Amino acid sequence: MESRELDELYSEVILDHCRHPRNRDEVPAPDIQADGVNPFCGDEVHLQIALDGQGRVARVGLQGKGCSINQASGSMLTEAIAHKTLSEVEDLVRLFRAMMGGAVPADGRLGELQALSEVRRYPVRIKCALLAWSTLEEGIEDYRRHGR
Ligand code: ZN
Repeated sequence: MESRELDELYSEVILDHCRHPRNRDEVPAPDIQADGVNPFCGDEVHLQIALDGQGRVARVGLQGKGCSINQASGSMLTEAIAHKTLSEVEDLVRLFRAMMGGAVPADGRLGELQALSEVRRYPVRIKCALLAWSTLEEGIEDYRRHGR
């Protein structure tokens, strides 16, 4: 997508995350690690999380490739989950997915993430916005399965 076209379609919040993605550095020796791909769009997400002694997210690293919405959504995710417990993170994933599915009004509960609700106007992009979140969810499930 041309950047001029993008400027017209998406809000400043999304564009800012797209141009300056946060927390891109890979986290060494992570507790949680997951990778996701969306072959339809060529999107990729590589995610690492290190937990602190209380089971809260201490460090997040996310390396995204592909379209702008995937990159912006991944970047926003890394800020949204900082210092949360895994249960809180899972609640957030559920709420975010519900908002993207139109089941939850964009009423401010999701803060900055609410900006991504405008992607609903482009149904083909919803998967792009959800990739990082599905990857995160899989990473947490995997972590719980291994009983750590
Ligand atoms: Zn995409």
